[in-house]
Amino acid sequence: MDIGIDLGTANTLVYLKDEGIKVREPSVVAVKTGTTEVLAVGDEAKRMLGRTPDTISAIRPLRDGVIADFEITEAMLKHFIKKARTKEKGKGKGTKLIRASKIRVVVAVPSGITEVEKRAVKDSAKQAGADEVYLIEEPMAAAIGVGLPIQDASGNMIVDIGGGTTEVAVISLSGIVQSRSLRVGGDKLDESIIAYMKRKYNLMIGERTAEMVKIKIGSATVVDQETTMDVKGRGLVDGLPKTIEVSSKEIREAMAEPLATILASIKEALERCPPELAADLIDRGIMLAGGGALLGGIDVWLTEQTGVPTHISEDPLVAVVEGTGRVLSEVSYIKKMTSAGV
Ligand code: ADP
Ligand code: MG
Repeated sequence: MDIGIDLGTANTLVYLKDEGIKVREPSVVAVKTGTTEVLAVGDEAKRMLGRTPDTISAIRPLRDGVIADFEITEAMLKHFIKKARTKEKGKGKGTKLIRASKIRVVVAVPSGITEVEKRAVKDSAKQAGADEVYLIEEPMAAAIGVGLPIQDASGNMIVDIGGGTTEVAVISLSGIVQSRSLRVGGDKLDESIIAYMKRKYNLMIGERTAEMVKIKIGSATVVDQETTMDVKGRGLVDGLPKTIEVSSKEIREAMAEPLATILASIKEALERCPPELAADLIDRGIMLAGGGALLGGIDVWLTEQTGVPTHISEDPLVAVVEGTGRVLSEVSYIKKMTSAGV
């Protein structure tokens, strides 16, 4: 059995060869506070974020692209692998675990993680039942997933804007020529919306609300026309629940700083490219992946700001896991693109 996993800072996806994407859930684990006793994982745990009593903590173990808690990451990985291997026995007959003589796993990890963290991911996958574990760097998996011709002798740029990190990479001849991983992604956009609402309106809002506002009316540049929405939170002055109407223009202003950081690192990668590759990039453009690629107008804005045509991949949230899936289908590919872990 071959399994591909996108271990993302915001979402974990699991791909089963011949079956496709089997699991697609937030990388969140709820534990009993102060312990590693797992109470819920994924969707169920995400619903608890910001709403837990003191006795329960909802944790995002990979939040900033580094593994903050090995034990919890392991529990999460185990849970999702098991879920991917679970099959309905038939209507109302419960479930069973798909048995396999050999389980091979390819895990896409943020490119910034350390050797110790890589080892921890491999060990966790093994604990979860894998016989062989291979790791692949996220931008490489994303590039393969969106179908960039990475084996060609010409440059391709992929920018994967995730929750905790943004990965910028230039790939040529199946190798990463230029890359940077920054700890700025969708979460920082959410945080900047929280800070803005507090500063301008004395309104405290939660992370989930901020994310909703970003997804609903957030943009990197003006798209079509400006819109507004009601945002609910708690007033800082009287402490009471309150609703404020904000505009898409304000939200764009709120997110300006983290967006500028992302732009700066794309520009830096472009500047450091050898001239031949830079010329290729003008022709081929920049490909965006990751949930951040769905931010309104980000392709238009990046095209404007960099002078390089920027495209959004077809389904940015699944690019990385699709890449692990494609790697699984060819053993020689596995050996070439990943670092063996056994
Ligand atoms: P990771 O790979 O780090 O797990 P993902 O690629 O799954 O991250 O992307 C998650 C991020 O994308 C989150 O910050 C989420 O808020 C953001 N996101 C998802 N959909 C949208 C959208 N429509 N507009 C803006 N941001 C979005
Ligand atoms: Mg990702």
